[in-house]
Amino acid sequence: MIFLAHALLGTLIGYSLSNLFLIAIIAFLSHFLLDALPHIDTGSFKRKSQYTRKDWYIVMFDIIIGLAFVIYFALKLGFLPVFIGAFFAILPDAIDGSAWLFKFKKMAFFKKMNAFHENFGFKMKHEFILLGYIIEVAVILGLLSILFWL
Ligand SMILES: [Zn+2]
Repeated sequence: MIFLAHALLGTLIGYSLSNLFLIAIIAFLSHFLLDALPHIDTGSFKRKSQYTRKDWYIVMFDIIIGLAFVIYFALKLGFLPVFIGAFFAILPDAIDGSAWLFKFKKMAFFKKMNAFHENFGFKMKHEFILLGYIIEVAVILGLLSILFWL
């Protein structure tokens, strides 16, 4: 899923639990759970090497909006737990993204991490695109309404 969805679920996990270690573990695992749902993101039909300039703008926009919400909710709900939750919830994408960017994706750890990430994630097909959009939007709006209501 997109950065925003992972960051919001991590935020909610951070707010809901009091043990920082537990927040980190559950937020990290939550990433794979969200990716396992049918969803649409820039990586659904493309590898990072195939991203256009527009795709990168969308990714940057998503990250900026996601970070803005994390900062807002961190200030509203408690800085450290929310920050730790959001950080660990986006960590799998951050690991994969930096391994790709800094060209160490062939190293054993990053290769295994990437394979696990890809295997666990929902494999989007053209017939599921609408479902992918609906679930992605529903997850984001659902999490936002819970978080604003807290
Ligand atoms: Zn992911």
